[in-house]
Amino acid sequence: MSAEREPVGVIGTGYVGLVTAVGFAELGSDVVCVDIDAEKIARLNRGEIPIYEPGLAELVEKNRERLTFTTDISVALDRARLLFVAVGTPPTYSGDADLSAVHAVVGAMPASDRHALVMKSTVPVGTGEAIKRVFAEQGKSGFRYVSCPEFLKEGTAVSDFLAPDRVVVGDDGDWAGDAVVELYRPLLVPDEGGNGPGQLVRTDIASAEMVKLASNAFLATKISFINEIANVCEETGADVVEVARGMGLDERIGPKFLNAGIGFGGSCFPKDVTALKQLAGNSGYHFQLLNSVIEVNELQKRRVIGKLEKHLGTLIGKRIALLGLAFKPNTDDMREASSLVLSARLQAAGAEVTAFDPIASEIAAPMLRGVTLADDAITAARGADAVVLVTEWQEFRDLDLAELRSVMAGDVLIDGRNALDGDAAASAGLRYEGIGRRALT
Ligand code: NAD
Repeated sequence: MSAEREPVGVIGTGYVGLVTAVGFAELGSDVVCVDIDAEKIARLNRGEIPIYEPGLAELVEKNRERLTFTTDISVALDRARLLFVAVGTPPTYSGDADLSAVHAVVGAMPASDRHALVMKSTVPVGTGEAIKRVFAEQGKSGFRYVSCPEFLKEGTAVSDFLAPDRVVVGDDGDWAGDAVVELYRPLLVPDEGGNGPGQLVRTDIASAEMVKLASNAFLATKISFINEIANVCEETGADVVEVARGMGLDERIGPKFLNAGIGFGGSCFPKDVTALKQLAGNSGYHFQLLNSVIEVNELQKRRVIGKLEKHLGTLIGKRIALLGLAFKPNTDDMREASSLVLSARLQAAGAEVTAFDPIASEIAAPMLRGVTLADDAITAARGADAVVLVTEWQEFRDLDLAELRSVMAGDVLIDGRNALDGDAAASAGLRYEGIGRRALT
């Protein structure tokens, strides 16, 4: 990679910031990573990776000499023109995005004609224009602004960054937008392995902001849609796995995000769907469809309780084992994980809950009051009346179902992700029930 690659600053070293920083370093840039969390920066400087993300540690190690980790934003301002912002934008009580971290970064910028903020954080449409107004009011109108929303997925974040479907750049048509496009240029042409090309969408700032929110809202809608189909399948005798396979072969529909289950979670979908609903509401439009998407998702998490009661009667005093806690496999992220609602509901119904997750247990522990955490799946299931698969980690797909059955007190297996072989479970003596599928015994 050429030595003249543009140096960059990345503000916020969470999932998005760290992956973005390491990705640009891999493409040849020197990258200054800034975070207000001094402990996180100290750990990164010791070579520790504060989050679990496959392939990330190796890539940090490989590009160590191109990466600087600091709490001092002036280091980034000295060395780079482009400052990528990847701070958190969590939901507030009203459902609007909390932009306080973004505003803290904006406030820390000096008057400069040579710098640009490049927004990777997911923000409401209109944020870019509002920030430009703030810059103007503060006599910093030379500071450029670019919207460059991020589409990486936790669990495959590194490969998503290096092989994006698309790169969206929203800007005012000045040097900053051009420089961001140049940074991404190597990902916009096929690599030696024939991957790519990622498509470039260069547009205005508001449209770029909306691409991100609308994409997540659409994917969430697809999930709630197939979950409702699953619920109707249960009433009518159809099998949602077969239905989704048949639907997904239509290229207008596509097979992805048609896996029925116990609902979506994570740091993005619930927050971004709610933020878009709020954004619409704040601008005078009632986004009826998104209300339903959110409501279906909430109810879907709770349907497991009804399934358990169908098999076990009252849950008072029953022992239920949860396999998987993270909101999806290959991440330790517990934000808005379905396991949180499920374990709380089970305990409220009087059940005793045990659980195991291959990676997320330590992070989950303080969030799961009253839940006994086990060191492996079989220990979690020992003495359980029912086991619920919550997160479809590969090791659960590979479970020896006969062994699972042998350690359980009962025989109920609820497959909340339709990830297990129902026939194999029935052969192992389990009463198997997925989501939107016929129950097997
Ligand atoms: P995160 O919580 O993992 O990381 C945010 C980081 O920003 C933290 O390390 C925090 O200490 C730091 N920070 C907060 N205020 C700061 C400040 N003033 N200066 C410097 N650092 C500061 O968040 P994340 O999951 O990486 O998400 C970041 C943004 O990207 C959010 O807007 C999110 O919606 C969006 N996004 C996330 C994903 C994802 O899968 N996680 C995907 C696409 C987009």
